[in-house]
Amino acid sequence: MTESPVTVQTFFERARGGTLTGIRCGGCGALAIPPKELCPECGQRAWSPVALSGDGAIASFTVIRVAPRGHAGDAPYAIAAVRLAEGVSVLGRVVDVPLDQLAVGLKVRFRPLVVRDRSAIGFGPA
Ligand SMILES: [Zn+2]
Repeated sequence: MTESPVTVQTFFERARGGTLTGIRCGGCGALAIPPKELCPECGQRAWSPVALSGDGAIASFTVIRVAPRGHAGDAPYAIAAVRLAEGVSVLGRVVDVPLDQLAVGLKVRFRPLVVRDRSAIGFGPA
């Protein structure tokens, strides 16, 4: 009984639709952010998709002041590692939070984001 694996593409497709998707190991129950080949806990490959709440708190962040080529108009902006309520962390772009109010521990909530025509993971105020 294996479901189709969650790829990077489906991860972002689901995110665009408003659902942040994790994967749970059928072997040991560990939760991870896709994609992952083997479970880092038990070495099995038995992932099933699971919807995450999208609620979390900033674990660390970086303010991008010199943006990559093609994103010059976006800077400055913040990328954060967000520790989700379920215990896994995911990288996302912080929106609608003034940069001088960013702080480790700040509560945020997932929101779908499209950057340059591509789905992206965003986090806004909780
Ligand atoms: Zn496992």
